[in-house]
Amino acid sequence: MTLLVQKFGGTSLGSIERIKAVAQRIKSSKEKGNDLVVVVSAMGHSTDELTQLASEISLDPPHREMDMLLSTGEQVSISLLTMALNELGTPAISLTGTQAGIITESAHGRARILEIRTERIKNLLSEGKTLVIAGFQGTSLGIGGIPEITTLGRGGSDTSAVALAASLEAEKCEIYTDVPGVLTTDPRIVKSAQLMKNISCDEMLELASLGAAVLHPRAVEIARNFGVTLVVKSSWDKLDGTTLTSKKNHVYAKGGIEHRSPVDGLELVENQAVIALSNIPDRPGIAAELFESLSEGGVNVDLIIQATHQINSNDITFTVVENELNNALIQCKKLIKTIGGEISSQKSLTKLSIYGAGIMGRPGIASSLFQTLSDSGINIHLIATSEVKVSCVIDAELGKKGLRSVAEVFKLTDKQITINPILANNNEPEVRGIALDKDQIQICVKNVPDKPGTASTICSKLAEKNISLDTIVQSERKHKDTTKDISFTLKKNDRKDAKYALEELISNWKGSKIEEGNAIVRISAVGSGMPFTIGTAGKIFRALANEKINIEMIATSEIRTTCIISEKDGEKALNEIHSCFQLGKL
Ligand code: ADP
Ligand code: ASP
Ligand code: MG
Repeated sequence: MTLLVQKFGGTSLGSIERIKAVAQRIKSSKEKGNDLVVVVSAMGHSTDELTQLASEISLDPPHREMDMLLSTGEQVSISLLTMALNELGTPAISLTGTQAGIITESAHGRARILEIRTERIKNLLSEGKTLVIAGFQGTSLGIGGIPEITTLGRGGSDTSAVALAASLEAEKCEIYTDVPGVLTTDPRIVKSAQLMKNISCDEMLELASLGAAVLHPRAVEIARNFGVTLVVKSSWDKLDGTTLTSKKNHVYAKGGIEHRSPVDGLELVENQAVIALSNIPDRPGIAAELFESLSEGGVNVDLIIQATHQINSNDITFTVVENELNNALIQCKKLIKTIGGEISSQKSLTKLSIYGAGIMGRPGIASSLFQTLSDSGINIHLIATSEVKVSCVIDAELGKKGLRSVAEVFKLTDKQITINPILANNNEPEVRGIALDKDQIQICVKNVPDKPGTASTICSKLAEKNISLDTIVQSERKHKDTTKDISFTLKKNDRKDAKYALEELISNWKGSKIEEGNAIVRISAVGSGMPFTIGTAGKIFRALANEKINIEMIATSEIRTTCIISEKDGEKALNEIHSCFQLGKL
């Protein structure tokens, strides 16, 4: 018999009619001869409603009590769906996370799954039962082995489902939802969004963590690490949906399901150069002009960052391979003549990166990379982060030294280290999907000391509170007193804790202050073909400029370009960029 794990989301279970329809669907899957483990979310918006109830009592309810409350949502849907199945003559039994043996760490509200003790599930399956398991919840063994109910974090039932599929070595994990699969962007905002037949786990990880709610990023992480075949499809029809693919050569997890060694590898890319344009005008169209002229000059730009500054001026910094530096400078000089500003450049640089799906959601990893470099006396010229990779541009002569220290700290063997890797161009699209993240705020820490370790101090201070910095932009420009600014975005939910922690930190830095920017959104284009295509960034910036949308910050990783723009422009920008890459016409 083939074992399938099928997960049904809240919208698919929003009413009794829908629960009955889902039961019918499960029954016919079962009749095709499959063994079934079904994972469900709470009905409709019930998790939101429970959260609302709590907020009417307390502004800051204890995390443990929130888990007690929220876990009831899934208990309603497992029991009702199981009743519906039994009514249809399909023998079924419901299990809470605890009863299903889902063991998590003890961090209430954001617990990671450690292991799944599958014995009870396997026994029930062998009796021919269909299992209906509560997603989003588990049990921690707590202090002294006393069990406590935990939840995994909002959207976490996808993660429960994929973790079950991995532990049970299921044939595949099917995520049934209210859209036909993973689309090129959010269909609620862009009507012409198209279904993708396939997407790589790396691309999906970026999209999911940058606002594409259709999959929980940790579910993608598990699928990627354990090689689970993951399919996203509609609850209402019988179409194929989207299949997630992952490269065959990644390192498989040995330890806990979500608790593996966070860093899989370390990479050094030599012969890099950085160009910094400073004091250029801050108005729509400048970034577009710059990157269009670079692309006309045949220059392939790798990392880009743009920092916001005092009214009316910006800095844009980017990297190219060293032998394209002269060509790039020619283009920049032409542009500066017409718009004003200064250029500086530096060659003999190296890009050092750590990567691994376990970096996601663990802010301590990036901060310990920065700390390690700073302890070795290495200054970081530029930082680029993605969910699964953190890159630092450093002086070439310190590259090997950095490599050794970082390898030691993350306990990496020679096999996990690559120098100048050759990327395989599989003719993937430069942009496969676009995500809009409305859940971020922008913070700038002004006038921080310009010395090795400042970025790492900020990151580790926030990491102590488990706060991740999402888009980090370190300005190249020094103030008169030789201090610098560092800007970043973080989740709205972390605002209060972050400000508190930062205020404590900057009290040690004379003249430094924290500023929260205007309401912003993050818009990100993701595609595996991006590193092989010249001019992608220019096209994105042009699409924004055409709509007179000003870009506040830019940050990129290899397969992603992210712009921070004003909140009011978010949906318009999403539509523009989507149509600029013709994603509505697949
Ligand atoms: P479920 O209740 O099934 O877990 P979610 O609401 O968590 O469903 O996720 C599905 C929703 O994700 C869709 O209704 C859609 O609006 C939104 N979404 C955002 N980005 C995308 C995308 N790229 N592809 C598909 N859906 C997306
Ligand atoms: N019910 C939980 C939530 O709404 C988990 C989930 O739906 O995946 O976040
Ligand atoms: Mg969901």
